[in-house]
Formats: sequence, C-alpha cells, structure tokens
Amino acid sequence: MGVSIEPGVLYVVATPIGNLEDITARARRLLGEVELIAAEDTRHTRALLAHLGVSTPLLSLHEHNERERLARLVPRLEGGARIALVSDAGTPLISDPGFALVRECHRRGIRVSPVPGPSALTAALSASGLPTDRFRFEGFLPRTADARRARLLELAAETVTLVFYESAHRIAASLADMAATLGGDRQAVIARELTKRFETVRAASLAALAEAVAADAEQRLGEMVVLVDGLPPPASDAVSPAGLRALAILLEELPVKQAAALAARLTGDARNALYRAALARREFDDR
Ligand code: SAM
Repeated sequence: MGVSIEPGVLYVVATPIGNLEDITARARRLLGEVELIAAEDTRHTRALLAHLGVSTPLLSLHEHNERERLARLVPRLEGGARIALVSDAGTPLISDPGFALVRECHRRGIRVSPVPGPSALTAALSASGLPTDRFRFEGFLPRTADARRARLLELAAETVTLVFYESAHRIAASLADMAATLGGDRQAVIARELTKRFETVRAASLAALAEAVAADAEQRLGEMVVLVDGLPPPASDAVSPAGLRALAILLEELPVKQAAALAARLTGDARNALYRAALARREFDDR
C-alpha cells in the first residue's frame, strides 16, 4: 500500500496597505515558514520580506500568468508543500489576483486557509462614518466614461453603502459622474492614503467632494477608496407605483374606504397608507 502524502495548504496572506507595522504576527511567521510565496509582484514583496527578515523563495503570480502558474503551484500543493499567496497590498483576491488559484485548490480538495489582516475596503469602511451593517463593494468602476455611468446608474437606487476602489488619474472624472448619476447631495467619503503619512478621510456631499478634488491636485494623489451613502430605504408605509395605479382606477367607481381596501388586497401595500393616499387624491380631485 502506497504512503499517502498529506496535502499541502495554500495560505492567503494579507499584507499592509501602507504602514508596515500592520503585518500580523501570524502572517510574519507563516511567510517565513512556507516553502514558497506566490506574489503579485516579486520585487514589491521582496522589499516587504527584507523588512521582515524573511528569505522564502518567491514566484510571481499576476493577472497575466495566473492560469499558467496553476500548473506549477497545484502539483506542489498536492505534493504536500505549504505555499503562501500575497498581493502587493492588503488582502489577495480583493480586486487582486488569486481567484483562479483558490478556486482550483477547492476543486482539488487542497486546503485554503486565510491569514486575515489589512484591506483598504474594511479600513475605509470602518472610518467612514457611513452605515456598515450592509454595504456593496463594487471594486473599480469601468474605465470608459459610458460604461462607468451605466454602472453607476445601475447602483443609483441601492439603499446600502457603496464602496469603490479608485485610482488617482480617474478620481476627478468618477466623482463628477457619481454626482451626476447618484445625486450631488448624496453624502460620501474619500478615504485616501490610509495608514500612510498623508492619510485623509474626508466626508461631504458628492457635489462638494467632486468640486474639491477637481480644484485641488493634491486631493487626487495616492490611493483612495470612495464610499457613498445608500438611498434612504422607502418608508414602510409608502404606496408603491402599482398601489397608486390601482387606487386611481378604483376611485373612479368606489368610495375612498373601499377603494383603499381593494387596492391593499390587489397590491399588498398597507391599507392605511392607501387610505391616506386615496383621501389626498379625492381632496385634490374635489378642488
Ligand atoms: N487587495 C487590496 C486590498 O485588500 O485593499 C486592494 C488592491 S487594489 C489593486 C488597489 C486599490 O485599493 C487602490 O486603487 C485603492 O483604491 C485601494 N487602496 C489600497 N491601499 C490603499 C490605501 N492605503 N488607502 C486608500 N486606498 C487604498
């Protein structure tokens, strides 16, 4: 009977988003213990490893070679190797490479273990002052203006906090598009250069932020996350468009109370709200 080899582990290791002190003790230890580190940019990670005093071999894994790298990494993992996956900053796979590798490990029954730590997403959200109980992470918006506006229009009715990654050279155009599509008076936050020397977390309306960033080149420097307040949820007693349509028809034939009751049965809207809407409509019609 052959000796079965204990399968290896892929550790998905978060690294700092600016401040090198933000590496966890476990990340530091594992980066030193694994046989190989798959890194988005080996030069970038080599600098981090030098700071940590770690000399583990590196292999590049980025969006252009990820599929081909699987052919090298997966057999090593299946042979029992322990491998760490890191990106240039923050948590791998969060708008960073690694998805194909992690998915392939799942397919083949290779254990994938997260080593949690910084991410610009959670760092920005935690300091934003916007609701965090529910949020929608959108990563980077499309590059072209038409596609960007189309995506923003899809998000315009979203009631939860929206989170976007943004780059220095597109921030001004993106904020202008956000103000135009989501509404200039919507509350928003720019979280820039988090954990670094010029860290700023600035909250204002989208229109004010768009104007400030357009007017001040310094506000366009560095790395940034944009967070936008969701639309207020519709009041629980609001009448839906279908409820209003039903009322309009029923009120032509029926008294207010009956029209409201029937419209409530037809649409599921609250009977009281329909009754108030019907009264308002009657008053308006009687004028
Ligand atoms: N995987 C990373 C993470 O977990 O945050 C994100 C990688 S993504 C390619 C890079 C984007 O993250 C930047 O364009 C910016 O939107 C955001 N980002 C990264 N570091 C940041 C920082 N220190 N301050 C603000 N935003 C940052």
